[in-house]
Amino acid sequence: MCPRCREPLIVMEFQGVEVDHCLDCRGTWFDAGEVEFLAETAGVEPGKIESAIHASGQQTGELKCPRCRRRMQVLKVGQQPAVEVDRCPAGEGLWLDAGELAAVVKTFGGTQDAALAEFFGDLFKHELSDATEDA
Ligand SMILES: [Zn+2]
Ligand SMILES: [Zn+2]
Repeated sequence: MCPRCREPLIVMEFQGVEVDHCLDCRGTWFDAGEVEFLAETAGVEPGKIESAIHASGQQTGELKCPRCRRRMQVLKVGQQPAVEVDRCPAGEGLWLDAGELAAVVKTFGGTQDAALAEFFGDLFKHELSDATEDA
């Protein structure tokens, strides 16, 4: 279920990475390592995001992890400007609101990857997978 709207998430695939996406708020759940992988395909230096996540202050937020249902931690990663992302307290993955992946890529010096921007900027244009998470 979507941590924001509690709607079922749909499974979508991009460059071999499966993500869970909410059609309502257009937020996306990434399993551990997937944000880093996708950002690296857009030119972000390997390890940069991971170390920023480790270095960032943590604060318990309002949203619950779609996997373990525990309240996620709000992390502020990067600078100028920092991007707020929600992370599972057990490290299972990250929840990014609409447009936040592009913001993360930009903050960490990645180049604008057209395919990535298109996919995560406007998922409605893409064919949707039939698979639905059991929420
Ligand atoms: Zn939602
Ligand atoms: Zn979790």
